[in-house]
Parts: sequence; C-alpha cells; structure tokens
Amino acid sequence: MLRIIFQRQKCIGCGSCVEVAPDRWQMNKLDGKSILIDAKGKKGFYTIELTNDEYEQNKEVESSCPMHIIRVEKC
Ligand code: SF4
Repeated sequence: MLRIIFQRQKCIGCGSCVEVAPDRWQMNKLDGKSILIDAKGKKGFYTIELTNDEYEQNKEVESSCPMHIIRVEKC
C-alpha cells in the first residue's frame, strides 16, 4: 500500500500533478488548486491510501510539484 498526503492550501495551480497522473489528480476551476481524487481532508491535509500500482506515477508527481506539498510513502 501507499499513502499520499497533500497540503492543498499551498497549491499554486501549476498543473504538473494533473499532467503526470490525470487519473489521480484534477484541477478545480473554482479555486485554481488541484484535487487529489477521492482523498479525505482534515485541517488542510488531504490523504488517501492506494495500492502500489499507483506508486511510481505518484512518486513522479511528488518530485514534479514545485511547492513540495505532496508526500508519497509506502505504508
Ligand atoms: S504540482 Fe503541486 S503546486 Fe502544482 S498543481 Fe499540483 S499540487 Fe499544486
């Protein structure tokens, strides 16, 4: 399993995450920030646990985010 943790408040809407993993990330046109699809939010942090199928792609998302607000870890 893997866990993605996303600190949404600091997102600048650059779109890199959506470009790398469009099945898991989406832009919200209303506030210009990205959405971690199906994640649960708590105090500004959005978290989801997934199977390892999505690990490599989301590791790439993690390193492509200029704000360093995405963490992808095995759990
Ligand atoms: S890569 Fe980071 S800053 Fe850019 S849209 Fe995604 S979460 Fe926001």
